Order: sequence, then structure tokens, then C-alpha cells
Amino acid sequence: MNIRLIELFPLLYPLPKPYGDANGLKKHRSCLLFRLTTELGLTGWGECVDWLPTIVKGFEDRIIPYLLGKSVADRQQLLRTVSQWHPRAAAGLSMAFSEIVAQHARISITDLWGGRWRHRIPVYASFQSYSEESDWMNSSLRLVEQRLMQGFSKAKVKIGGKTIREDQGHISALQSQFSQVLELALDANQSYDAAAAGNWRALLQRWDNLMWLEELLPMHRQEQYRQIKSWLPLPCSGGENLSAPEFIPLLGKGTIDILQPDPMHQTSIQEYVQLLFTARQFGQRVSPHTFDGSLSRLYALFAQACLPPWSKMTGEEIEPVEWDAMENPLTQLFPVPIQQGEVVLPTGAGLGTAPDMERIRSLLWDGHTY
Ligand code: MG
Repeated sequence: MNIRLIELFPLLYPLPKPYGDANGLKKHRSCLLFRLTTELGLTGWGECVDWLPTIVKGFEDRIIPYLLGKSVADRQQLLRTVSQWHPRAAAGLSMAFSEIVAQHARISITDLWGGRWRHRIPVYASFQSYSEESDWMNSSLRLVEQRLMQGFSKAKVKIGGKTIREDQGHISALQSQFSQVLELALDANQSYDAAAAGNWRALLQRWDNLMWLEELLPMHRQEQYRQIKSWLPLPCSGGENLSAPEFIPLLGKGTIDILQPDPMHQTSIQEYVQLLFTARQFGQRVSPHTFDGSLSRLYALFAQACLPPWSKMTGEEIEPVEWDAMENPLTQLFPVPIQQGEVVLPTGAGLGTAPDMERIRSLLWDGHTY
């Protein structure tokens, strides 16, 4: 299983209309896809997100020369080395290695991880609610409505980027139109302090369709999370930027009810899967953050398929996976069927689905600095 070839596919999509969250507006979407080929002709895809000029140079000058000729059988050691240079590159490489091993054994990724509990995984439409438009609230409402018409029944929208009054106007309008047909999560991207969070108390107690409240405060303020939890009538979630070791002190403490690790922010996909199973040992739910990549989202779906249910309740057996609901052609690079808000997982060897090469070629970055 020696690596013969590594091809890079840096992809960039400038957004015609920027959109964003409390961290600001995004002007483009991008990712680096790469394909490893072994001497026997087996292939595996990897993905990572970083500024393309530096990540491409890092691969070309250091990572590719190091990996060529090495055996995928030694993947743990290879990942250890690469993770010291660039953890996100290692996360992507671990996906490619997993696919090659699964292809070699002619089994699916989920077979590799112990088998599936389920073949369909619920997803929620994830929105970036803010834009440059003066009527951003109405644009947000119409976009949510469109996704509802496409079969989604769960969604996440942003707060924390405007004044509390404006954000509450936005969420109240959403709720008055869609609360009967929509389960909703609110994401503040760590914008608030405990007092600002308290300004939402009366509204939150009024609604019964809220799934969770995401990253109200900076994640390290666990004492303030504890204060908020004393009055909050719904689950708290967070952790999209945390590594597996950073989750460990949060497990079983009751401040964060739903962990939201991102497969691209761990040093390997194996570490991500181990974290999910460890969370279950502590009685914690996990709803992954997967906003930035089509391939890593597919791996998160596979992991959710292999995760034991958190509950015996019928209809509540697994937590949903994030589904980028904004304009973003990169989200369709590894196509999977989605029906009524659920992904039907492919069953073939490896990923069980082929990347859309035509779309990949159409999105190739031309090398300019952006
Ligand atoms: Mg978030």
C-alpha cells in the first residue's frame, strides 16, 4: 500500500453575495481536496480548509515529498508526523488513508468502524443569517422558507452579530411564521456574556421548538455556562473549534449538553470517532459541526451511523448532522441523496460515492492571492 501519487485540488468559490455570522461576512468558500493513489491503484480522498496559498505550499514543499513511497499501513506514524506540521492536513490525510484501507478490504468506511446502527441520518439546515442587505431579516426568512419547502424540518440560525433587539426581532419573526413546522437551534458564535444571555430568558421560555442554544459564551467560561444552565430551559451546545483533548474536561460536567466537534479540527478521523464513543460513555450527546467541507461532512455522517443511540426513545435515536444550507457549490462535491431532511448513506466499498469531478474542475483555484 505504498503511496505513488498525491494530487491537489485547491477549490475557491467567490460568493456573489457575502453572508455571515457573528464573526463577520464570508466573501468566498474554499477547501483543499487531495487524492492519494497507491502503487496498486487504490485511491483515497482527503480534505482540509485553510488559506489556499499557504496550505498548497505546505503540501507541495513538505507533506507530499514526505509521504511519497511510504506505506498506508504505517498511517498512525505518518499522521503523527504530519499533525506536528499541520493538524488539519493530518485530519484530511486520515480520511484518505481510511478510504484506501476500506477499498483494500472491499468494505465501507462504516464496516471499518464496527458497523452501522442505521442507514439514514437526520440533518439540519444550517444558515448564515447575516448579509450586507438592509433587509437581511427578510432575506433570512425567505431562505429558511425555501429550505422548508425542500423537506428540511430542522434548522440553525445565527444570533450575536447584531444588537440583541434586532436579533430577537429576527428570531421572533421566524418563530411566528415557522414554529409549527420547524425545530430550531440558535448559534451565538461565543458573542455574549452571562448578562447578555439573560436578556433572552423570557423569549426562550416561551418557545418549545428549540433544539439547542449554541456557543452563547466563549467556551472557556465554564463557570458562566454553569450559571446560565441554572435557568436555561433547553440544551446548551458547543465546541466546534475544540480538539479532542480540549473536550475531555467538559465531559460529564453538565455545562455543555451537546458536543459539537468538527472532524476537520481533530488530528485524525479515528480520533474524532473515538471522541464520539467516549462522549457516549459520559452520557453526552454529539451533533457534529460540519459546515466547511463536503467530504468531512460525509465522514461525520458515517460516524453518526456507527454511534450507539443516546436514548431508547423511538424517533430520538440519533443526533442530527449539520448541513450547509447557504449558496455553496462545494457542499455538493461528494453527492449523497437527501430525502425529507435525512441523508440516505451510501453502502458501497470505501465512501460508496464518487466525487463530482466536473464540479471539482470547475471550481479549481487559479493561484491568485485572495
Ligand atoms: Mg457554531
